[in-house]
Amino acid sequence: MSRTSPKTRLIHARAGGRRIPTVNPPVERASTLLLPDADALYDDLIYEDQPNYGRMGLSVHRELEGALCELEGAAGARLAPSGLAACTLALSGLLRAGDHVLVSDSVYGPTRRFCNLRLKAMGVEADFFPPRIGNGIETRFKPNTKAVFLEAPGSLTFEISDTPAIVAVAQARGAYTLIDNTWGAGVFHRPLELGVDVSIQALTKYVVGHSDYFGGAILSRTPGVAAKMVNVMEQFGVALGPEEAYASLRGLRTLHTRLAAHDAASREVAHWLADQSDVSRVLHPALEQHPDHTIWVRDFRGACGLFGVVLEATPKPAFDAFLRGFELFGFGYSWGGFESLILPCDPQLRRMAGDWTADKPGPLLRLHIGLEDPADLIADLDAAFERRRAAL
Ligand SMILES: *Cc1c(COP(=O)(O)O)cnc(C)c1O
Repeated sequence: MSRTSPKTRLIHARAGGRRIPTVNPPVERASTLLLPDADALYDDLIYEDQPNYGRMGLSVHRELEGALCELEGAAGARLAPSGLAACTLALSGLLRAGDHVLVSDSVYGPTRRFCNLRLKAMGVEADFFPPRIGNGIETRFKPNTKAVFLEAPGSLTFEISDTPAIVAVAQARGAYTLIDNTWGAGVFHRPLELGVDVSIQALTKYVVGHSDYFGGAILSRTPGVAAKMVNVMEQFGVALGPEEAYASLRGLRTLHTRLAAHDAASREVAHWLADQSDVSRVLHPALEQHPDHTIWVRDFRGACGLFGVVLEATPKPAFDAFLRGFELFGFGYSWGGFESLILPCDPQLRRMAGDWTADKPGPLLRLHIGLEDPADLIADLDAAFERRRAAL
């Protein structure tokens, strides 16, 4: 099977030996698993590979973990009830009181909040670094720096860090590297191949793909790190429900196909936006004007439906007029579903340590390009620009 393409392997990643030969695994619902005899209750050796309690995962969890390992080339996978839980648990599994962690300044906001509040309460100190720091990250290391947390690209502002350069410094310093890989979803980006220790995905986004379930995955490059992730999940008592695991596994089968469509449509909309007089900058890594385009070409195989756009200076009444009247783009958090979304980002930018707002003439918006006809989405945006211009 290793000669087939990743797309084919993901469709055929399946456990054999089903009693009833269904294509998809059965969704078992179980806390108690009946064991063969009393001795088996305490036989850890038997249960290293198979669960003796429902929380450790059932058939559907095992198949999802196997398919995710295939997708990202991981030594081990663990499932969490949300993407955020996957981020916070992965950090918790590698850090202890007295440690220091370096976190990208454009990291997903709730991950940042966890670092500032919960990690601090656990005795771990977090510092935020500019995502474009590259091997300059060396100067941010302290003797107790145990981990570097990246996100590719950064939430809202779409910087792409030079991951191999940062990994090289971290490895020389004996620190772990973790990356939030939700945007690349393992299809467009395989960070474990670049030496990153832990790749994290919010399955909620493209893997589930229909905005109707939560899920998170922690994928480890080495068996040693994978074992730490097993431990932290057991210690916190975390489990993903079987229905959620099933929805994630089903989503994985069409992931390549859906992402290719999101990619094509988002590039079409991004190129159109770049030509509009209302637009100051399009933050889409596949556009040559993006400052990290070269890194993206080197480290990624595609771009998903999520990118940013900075408008020219827009007084509040004109911005309000722009936002009022979208027919297709919806206002809402999250992304990765089949529908297009638009999100004004400025209220969220204030939390960043770096002054991102300094060289920005107008508002920042995040767009998620869904699976609608891109021509219809462009018409919806065009009408919004007309409303903006009429109100200037
Ligand atoms: C949405 C998101 C998460 C969190 O996922 P949830 O399942 O909503 O908790 C984490 N990282 C990134 C980059 C996200 O966009």
